[in-house]
Amino acid sequence: MNEPSCNIDQNSEIFDVMIVGGGPAGLTAGIYSSRAMLKTVLLEKALTGGQIASTGYIDNYPGFRRISGMELAQNMEEHAKDFGLEIQLCEVQCISKSEDGTFCINTSCGQYRGRTIILTTGVKPRSLGIPGEKELRGKGVSYCAICDGFFYKDKHVAVIGGGDSALEEGEYLTKFASKVTVIHRRDEFRAVKILQERAFENPKMEFVLDTVVEEIIGDDFATGMKLKNIKTGESTVMNVDGIFVYIGTLPNTFICQLHPATDDMGYITTDDKMNTSIPGIYAAGDVRSKLLRQISTAVGDGATAAVSAERFIEELKHKYK
Ligand code: NAP
Repeated sequence: MNEPSCNIDQNSEIFDVMIVGGGPAGLTAGIYSSRAMLKTVLLEKALTGGQIASTGYIDNYPGFRRISGMELAQNMEEHAKDFGLEIQLCEVQCISKSEDGTFCINTSCGQYRGRTIILTTGVKPRSLGIPGEKELRGKGVSYCAICDGFFYKDKHVAVIGGGDSALEEGEYLTKFASKVTVIHRRDEFRAVKILQERAFENPKMEFVLDTVVEEIIGDDFATGMKLKNIKTGESTVMNVDGIFVYIGTLPNTFICQLHPATDDMGYITTDDKMNTSIPGIYAAGDVRSKLLRQISTAVGDGATAAVSAERFIEELKHKYK
């Protein structure tokens, strides 16, 4: 693979820290490194906030009993900007290393150059990979309740999945929908007990277990799904007005020659200081291989990565003094 080369303009600005991704991990890294007076830029392709910006409500981030995801995301961004973090809305294409040891990041708005990189690119929704899903994406098939829930006022929607996201976002959808049917492939949910209890108590929610979705039906818009009970083998058709897919996530990584090592699932492996396999490159938040993907663990990762980057820069200064 031909890597975009890191042609250095000797007059180009050199950042101490370049953060890729503007979710809780990236914004926390931004707060810590800007506060440490390191020249820091955060590159984000769309909106800051990452997944939390499209989460209805959050009730397990310490200090906030219940806060909308969007509000928490905005608070984090303002907090980081208060310390001087520069945020640029650019899509990162690739990273590379120049002969003088600095890193380059090629983006949709030009090249950035710096001494360290913190990757906080997060995750993207996993898709079912069944007939009709791709064709009807955005036409009744959604991966974001907060973005699209409003369009299903007094309608019947289905949520596919059995984890925290499926039950939490399913509950959020009951604000609009008349009925939310959760379809899960097993007879037990993976979601934490409190979310299960809330969902079971919600009169607008119903549950179809041991069932997989085989096809999404509809011409211009999704109208239903072909379902199969995996225990009885029985096939049925369920008519719904909308389908929300919450079956887990995949890491957001880009294909470059210079890419840190990952686990079997593609998540970036780090040590407890957030060091990746490449010295000077750190990973933090959901894109990192780890047990628990939460806002509380993402912010801890982000803070640790920023401190590790700071120490790396200090060592570089001593080395070349
Ligand atoms: P997840 O925990 O990986 O759950 C995915 C669910 O989808 C599982 O129930 C899984 O079934 C099911 N599934 C996977 N592939 C499937 C397929 N091909 N067809 C049908 N079903 C499929 O994903 P998540 O709920 O998106 O959560 C991701 C992470 O974010 C987790 O660490 C979670 O704890 C965290 N999170 C936390 C909160 C919170 O704290 N408030 C909210 C949302 C997410 P099986 O159970 O059978 O494998």
